[in-house]
Amino acid sequence: LSNRSALPCDDPLEVLRTVYGYHAFQGRQEEVIRHVVAGNDALVLMPTGGGKSLCYQIPSLMRPGTGIVVSPLIALMQDQVQSLTQMGVRAAFLNSSIGPAQQREVESRLRQGGLDLLYVAPERLVTPVFQELLRSLPIALFAIDEAHCVSQWGHDFRPEYTQLSLLHRLFPQVPRIALTATADGPTRRDIAEQLQLQNASVFSTGFDRPNISYTVVPKSRGADQLLEFITRRHRGEAGIVYRISRNKVEETASLLQEHGLAALPYHAGMTAIQRAHNQERFMRGEGVVMVATVAFGMGVDKPNVRFVAHMEPPRSLEAYHQETGRAGRDGLPAEAFLTYGLADVVMLRKMIGSAQENPRAHVEHNKLDALLGFLETTECRRNALLCYFGETPPAPCGNCDTCITPPHTWDGTVAAQKALSAVYRTGQRFGVAHLADILAGKLTRRVSDHRHNELKTFGCGKELGKDMWKSVFRQLVAQGLLDVDMEGHGSLLLNRHSWEVLRAERGVRLRKDTADTRSTHRNASP
Ligand code: ADP
Ligand code: ZN
Repeated sequence: LSNRSALPCDDPLEVLRTVYGYHAFQGRQEEVIRHVVAGNDALVLMPTGGGKSLCYQIPSLMRPGTGIVVSPLIALMQDQVQSLTQMGVRAAFLNSSIGPAQQREVESRLRQGGLDLLYVAPERLVTPVFQELLRSLPIALFAIDEAHCVSQWGHDFRPEYTQLSLLHRLFPQVPRIALTATADGPTRRDIAEQLQLQNASVFSTGFDRPNISYTVVPKSRGADQLLEFITRRHRGEAGIVYRISRNKVEETASLLQEHGLAALPYHAGMTAIQRAHNQERFMRGEGVVMVATVAFGMGVDKPNVRFVAHMEPPRSLEAYHQETGRAGRDGLPAEAFLTYGLADVVMLRKMIGSAQENPRAHVEHNKLDALLGFLETTECRRNALLCYFGETPPAPCGNCDTCITPPHTWDGTVAAQKALSAVYRTGQRFGVAHLADILAGKLTRRVSDHRHNELKTFGCGKELGKDMWKSVFRQLVAQGLLDVDMEGHGSLLLNRHSWEVLRAERGVRLRKDTADTRSTHRNASP
């Protein structure tokens, strides 16, 4: 492709076939491409590997002038330019990794109209000299890759990205396309605002992984539930078990080994050699179960991972989506299994900490809230996940726990009032176990020490039993009707929503916990 005019310039599919050698577009790629080719702005949300690059590369080839791509990742620029060049596309990059002579050469190619695509680092793009140069040239589009870097809500804020809003002012007639895999509501709105993309169309696509079946169960027997899940449903198959700490990784790996499973640990406390060794065995071996912290997974692309299990909730739905997404890359059925209890929520809240300790605390607590809402949903779980990522899901999927075994819900208003008054009457100083004892009327040592058996609430919830009360508390926290004290030892605190419940200004619906992993699966063995 020495000469771009040789390209069939009005049909994206033709470009896809002749330049890339692919047969068909995926997801909403074609829609995005047509939209941008027509000169419109777009915000594109797709998971990693979803095919974002084509969304700006093809319009750059189809529109007159050079497509300018802003990217924060130097290594990624080099890879992209290399593979584009191999396909015959005239592409180059400008960043701190190249010397002055090479820079001048790239700039001169740009001036002469010899580039279809130019990748630039953001700090370079916003310099006045470079702006001047661009203004004298035909520009096909601006693509802002990793657009979440503009948002303080994201995990990867880059101050130099905030200046990119000037593109809109300086080049109002040039279409802009922002792309990211981080797509929760607050980040999305922030990106649109910061980059002045309020009028851009949003294309959110590719987050669905139809072959993954999602299941969430309350934690009742912890490790035994995991063991049962693996041995009943995935014996001899490859899988990943995520745990929150190094100790727990070691503990679970040993437990699985004791039960004859080929389990290996992986966490940042191990030496690089041990980690590489275990990863290698996981990649090559048959039926190896990797028990790992979140340190494991980046760049791990094993097609036949049949399950991903979480023994504690991750911190956000993005993390959940990414981690469970490592299952079933081959397109064959795979399972995502998660078990959690209120103690996990208490721990996660503590780890995030308060606004004094952690400048991102507010954002992180919100993300955890969204995750908890997902864990407690009574709707199709896949749809709940897709909605979070801004996709409009079709009908309920029929391939998640809530679709397969629709949870029973009950009017928990009175139970919630009892639970919240137990919190109130004990001075908001106690955790869930003690409160559940009080409600269930269990005369433990701790209860008598504090003379909590003399409270009006003592035994007022005998009919439900201790486990049921734990479930009530967990759901109240997940629904935001009760807070966890992060300084204390997981004491529960009333918030303004608790008072709405106590004053009978609002009702509470709760789901009946499914007692066991077995009941949530269609084809479990008896
Ligand atoms: P992202 O930037 O969203 O992480 P990429 O643009 O790097 O994803 O695409 C991921 C992979 O999918 C690449 O190897 C790319 O060539 C391939 N790909 C993208 N679109 C298509 C398509 N329509 N058909 C086949 N392969 C595609
Ligand atoms: Zn479903």
